Amino acid sequence: MPAGAGMTAEGEATEATYAPFPIFSRFALHDRPFLDADGPVMFIRRFLSTAFLLALSAAAVAAEPPRLSLPLRCEPGVNCFIQSYVDHDPGPASTDFNCGARTYDTHNGTDFRVRSMRDKTRGVDVIAAADGVVRGVRDGMQDISVRVIGAAALGGRDCGNGVMLDHGGGWTSQYCHMAQGSIAVREGARVRRGEPLGRVGLSGNTEFPHVHVTIRKDGTVVDPFAYGKAPASCGGGTSLWTPEVTAALPYRSRILLAQGFADGPVSAEDLDTGRIEDRRPNRDSAALTAWVRLIGIETGDAVRLVLTGPDGRVLAENRPEASDRPKAQLHVFVGRKRPPEGWPTGRFTATVSVQREGRAVTEERFAFDLAQ
Ligand SMILES: [Zn+2]
Repeated sequence: MPAGAGMTAEGEATEATYAPFPIFSRFALHDRPFLDADGPVMFIRRFLSTAFLLALSAAAVAAEPPRLSLPLRCEPGVNCFIQSYVDHDPGPASTDFNCGARTYDTHNGTDFRVRSMRDKTRGVDVIAAADGVVRGVRDGMQDISVRVIGAAALGGRDCGNGVMLDHGGGWTSQYCHMAQGSIAVREGARVRRGEPLGRVGLSGNTEFPHVHVTIRKDGTVVDPFAYGKAPASCGGGTSLWTPEVTAALPYRSRILLAQGFADGPVSAEDLDTGRIEDRRPNRDSAALTAWVRLIGIETGDAVRLVLTGPDGRVLAENRPEASDRPKAQLHVFVGRKRPPEGWPTGRFTATVSVQREGRAVTEERFAFDLAQ
């Protein structure tokens, strides 16, 4: 890397694998539920027709929906994030409940992700979203990316290790991709809201550690962010989450998933594995970089990253190009080689912004101190 020049990388979401709409290659999951014989397309069609009926006769629907708590023990926006919502499009395109791009075709649940495999290894509990009875469990599947073993090896067990809870009144919740050996409940057991079911894992049809949660009413998929939403509307419906969760999970794009400083170029693998944590720069580092990973990038967004030295001068910045499509995730780094006189000590600062038509729509700053 030439001194002073910025360097960027966009490792993700480049080519479609098997999604017909080439947006979310890295997240083109088809995590079909393990306790239902229907294919994912059927779910969506049934979901839409039911949503339509509900809009017509909401009062006639029996059984109050359960109020749902956060299904994992974490702090939203800090160490867990929504990666994908339910797909509301009945055809081969995809749209989330807000008419945004934060979903993919046939996705029938909500994905709550952690930042890296290292976070998964440290252990994040998946917990019951409401009181219920355990109706199904599966454990014993390996924690391994479907990119490594291929979807065929799953034998249709796309959910991986999982739990299905019955909340009464036809309401169920299903939790997928949990860690091997972590399932903590047995079929038939009663569980209380917040009780651990297992831990976040990498089993089934997934490429990153997360829990996929599907809510159903009488076997039909429901979007917990927009229950009863009219099919063609943007927004609408009611949230099934508790008021606390609703407040903690505002619908957003352009979320800063992780950020930091490193001793050289940063790969997607460094971030996936969490090995980036071992690469903090020191005075001897051959290079010094700032890096960010964002999720929910929209068409037209350009991610700008600027690294500033202790004297306040800009060391490096990238020249971002506007994204030509939505991106499930994106990482960018920028930096420079060590100057002949070595790195100065003091506070290095990075500023990341998402620009649209040359104007920042979001901006965040982070820093670290290089000690003597
Ligand atoms: Zn999912």
